[in-house]
Amino acid sequence: MPPDPDTTAQSAGIAGRVARLIRPEIRALTAYAVAASEGLIKLDAMENPYPWPEDARPALLRRLGAVELNRYPDAGAAAVKARLRDFMGVPAHMDVLLGNGSDEIIQILQLAVAGPDRHVLAPAPSFVMYELIAAWVGLCFSPVPLRADFGLDIDAMLDAIGRLDPALIFLAYPNNPTGNLFDADGVEAVIRAASGIVVLDEAYHAFADASFMDRLGEFDNLLVMRTVSKLGLAGIRLGALAGPPAWIAELEKVRLPYNINSLTQAAACEALDRREIFAGQVVRIRAERDRLMAALNAMPGVDPYPSATNFILFRLQRADPAAVDAGLRARGVLIRNLHRPGAALESCLRVSVGRPEENDAFLAALSGLL
Ligand code: PMP
Repeated sequence: MPPDPDTTAQSAGIAGRVARLIRPEIRALTAYAVAASEGLIKLDAMENPYPWPEDARPALLRRLGAVELNRYPDAGAAAVKARLRDFMGVPAHMDVLLGNGSDEIIQILQLAVAGPDRHVLAPAPSFVMYELIAAWVGLCFSPVPLRADFGLDIDAMLDAIGRLDPALIFLAYPNNPTGNLFDADGVEAVIRAASGIVVLDEAYHAFADASFMDRLGEFDNLLVMRTVSKLGLAGIRLGALAGPPAWIAELEKVRLPYNINSLTQAAACEALDRREIFAGQVVRIRAERDRLMAALNAMPGVDPYPSATNFILFRLQRADPAAVDAGLRARGVLIRNLHRPGAALESCLRVSVGRPEENDAFLAALSGLL
């Protein structure tokens, strides 16, 4: 069909307005892409592979059924917050801010400190949203390369802190996408050197044996962030930030009212009242992670990195990462290809820990592709 001249003229007009009105730094971005996963074994997004157990569903549905959807949610999400405080072991004199996923908390933090010549610092590679949101709000993002073993480069971090005096530093503890836990002494050195806020992003806390939660209050610039996503509740979108009341009170001013919807509040309360379900799943995921790690270690041509999370980063010694990624997909398995030529993650792929049969399918497909 020939192009409709009206439509063509209209798009040309819109393109001109887009170029004039949308900020250049936004036009330069690529929107966060989520791979199509229908029909595939989904090992790309660090989700808990176990659904809500069948015998616990009636209670969940009763709770959701009682929600008054005609009313706005509880604006302070008091019932959820009380349960989360207890579940996360937030020290008594600290406050909690809730977000629509911890992604939203990263956005709230950056909105609150944004200003000309203000810097956000994070090790690289790390979670992509730190950098993406900095671009949205006009903050300068300063990545500090990790060492070759993906440990923190303390000298480089301290040097960057001295030069840039960042308003905000994000340390993913453990780190995504590398999977390792930074050395606690190094983290402490960063907190002590920084005059800005240091956010310990403990998204993968359930799979690690370390946390800075009980050290809140020891440093007045430390905040600790968690999420229920990796625990088995990625669909409800709920994250939490714990820290000194003086910081949380300011951040509350940048939070949209009712950001935690009623169904999320009800589901989170039910989940936190049945936390043994999720604790049991975490034990199984940790055991599967260790089995997957041993199998990858035994596979010729594959170098997995240590993991304190529910995923494993591995490097291919010879095989082409794009071909392996496509081959896995053709065999029904979706993982994440992080390869970029010459970059720190050259030839690297990341697999999330699935159910035993899903991990077996992944291992069989991978070994057939090497
Ligand atoms: N922090 C880290 C380190 C992550 O890897 C992720 C998700 N992949 C998040 C935060 C965001 O989690 P959510 O928005 O689901 O709470």
